Amino acid sequence: MAADTITLSLDQIRELALTTLKANGCNDENASAVAETITTAERDGSSSHGLFRLPGYVASLKSGKANGSAKPSVSRPKPAVVLVDNDYGFAPLGIVAGRDELIDAARSQGIAFMALVNSHHFAALWHEVEPLCDAGLCAFACTAHTASVAPAGGKKKLFSTNPVAFGWPRKDQPPVVFDMATAAMARGEIMLAARDGHDVPLGAGLDANGNPTQDPNAILDGGVQLPFGGYKGSAIALMVELLAAALIGERFSYEATEADNKDGGPARGGEFILAIDPSTTAGEGWLGHSEGLFGKMLAMDGVRLPGDRRYGNRAKSQHQGVAVPAELIEKHNALSKWTCQ
Ligand code: NDP
Repeated sequence: MAADTITLSLDQIRELALTTLKANGCNDENASAVAETITTAERDGSSSHGLFRLPGYVASLKSGKANGSAKPSVSRPKPAVVLVDNDYGFAPLGIVAGRDELIDAARSQGIAFMALVNSHHFAALWHEVEPLCDAGLCAFACTAHTASVAPAGGKKKLFSTNPVAFGWPRKDQPPVVFDMATAAMARGEIMLAARDGHDVPLGAGLDANGNPTQDPNAILDGGVQLPFGGYKGSAIALMVELLAAALIGERFSYEATEADNKDGGPARGGEFILAIDPSTTAGEGWLGHSEGLFGKMLAMDGVRLPGDRRYGNRAKSQHQGVAVPAELIEKHNALSKWTCQ
């Protein structure tokens, strides 16, 4: 155990998250859904979206921005459209509430999407696509939140870090999943660099004067993040704004920023989740066909499939637990009166 970390089992992480959320205004159902997301994030090494986010969830419960007793309602306005009104709760419960309906719609129609509205998203997106892949579907998800990224060529915040995730099922193996911010760096990663006193790579953002900087604090305090890959990442970020806001009647990132109470938790926004049944067009054998491509990739030195780092962490953390910064645990103890045993 490193001096500044404490190793927790996955059960301890779940209990810490549950206790903290319930002590701060979440009912059992909402707390369980968020705690599961936090625990599986820690399990997979997605630490920027694990326990690190718990104080933000708590802040939004305390300020009354998020509804800790949300009851998501699921409807099917068209055969291929699943609408989940999340009742201003945190996204994990709404996503689970609409998932079976989305799977059913994709299987019967060949393709379907979920529009998640009136929701507060504060997590990684692989949580959304992996279960759809486990059901034999190809999946895509994206969400927008608050403005922190300048469009290519600009120096002012307009887009959020607008993450996108894509998943493809594999034969007898966990799916191929990529899940990434369309900013050069996820904001959570910049916050972790600021917390740990590290520089960030050039290209991650500009300071308050619009100059390139490697100082994470200069980007976070009055500066702006940049999209990855210049105009290409910027175009994908634009697509996310249109799918996760314009298409489903939710807020653009800049609108969410204007409406947000700045409590440090997730702003209200929407999420777009697409599911496609490959057998509709590719027929039987589609799984084996894609395995051929993955095999070619893996035969090359230095190549791995996206998602495999997480699956490696997953295999280890089930037995070894997860090293969590002691300072973070202290913070949660204060919020929940939870004591690590
Ligand atoms: P990374 O840049 O760390 O990783 C992006 C993707 O690339 C991952 O799927 C990763 O797979 C894959 N990858 C990384 N290296 C390689 C490699 N050498 N070969 C093949 N694949 C590779 O992610 P980001 O920092 O951009 O995003 C981190 C998280 O932040 C995401 O989960 C995202 O959803 C979340 N986020 C959430 C937001 C929200 O509003 N809720 C906003 C922005 C981001 P692997 O995991 O296996 O390494």
